[in-house]
Amino acid sequence: MVASRRNRKRTPRHKSGWRAGSKRPSPRSRGLVDPRHTPYKLLIRRSGIHGLGVFAQQAIPKGKRVIEYSGERISRVETRRRFLRAWRSRQKRLYLARIDLYWAIDGARGGSGAELINHCCDPNLGWRVERGRLFFVSRRGIRRGDELTLDYAFRADGPLVPCRCGARRCRGTINTRRGAEGR
Ligand SMILES: [Zn+2]
Repeated sequence: MVASRRNRKRTPRHKSGWRAGSKRPSPRSRGLVDPRHTPYKLLIRRSGIHGLGVFAQQAIPKGKRVIEYSGERISRVETRRRFLRAWRSRQKRLYLARIDLYWAIDGARGGSGAELINHCCDPNLGWRVERGRLFFVSRRGIRRGDELTLDYAFRADGPLVPCRCGARRCRGTINTRRGAEGR
């Protein structure tokens, strides 16, 4: 995983009363993650960790594929270009996830909502790449109402980003400690 910085969007209001056959508001406009990207009910709303977060609306067992990190597939060169452009302009919205040495996914375009999952040093999700697709997988049982979290593991030699995840084992930075990369 590489850089992802949270943005400060407002949580879309939940609209009830939608009926099949009526003009369908997009699931995102109701705060729900589109079921094409997850078999679970996941809700996007304001997070105590940072900005918006993604919350389980139902219990999720350990070891399950929870959500796909979708978006635009971009090359290493393009990834670097977008990263530098965002860095220079101090842009806070950057949702790049590296899936291998060459490809990354930019969740800013066509993101499932997985790009809004906050960092935690003791996360309930891990990640897995399958045939070029990136999935977040539950590392333990997740209870209804829990916020989904992931260890972004920013590079130790990159710009340090302070962490306020609140986990007992919080590293203090979203970056890994030097020498602890590739965990
Ligand atoms: Zn932390």
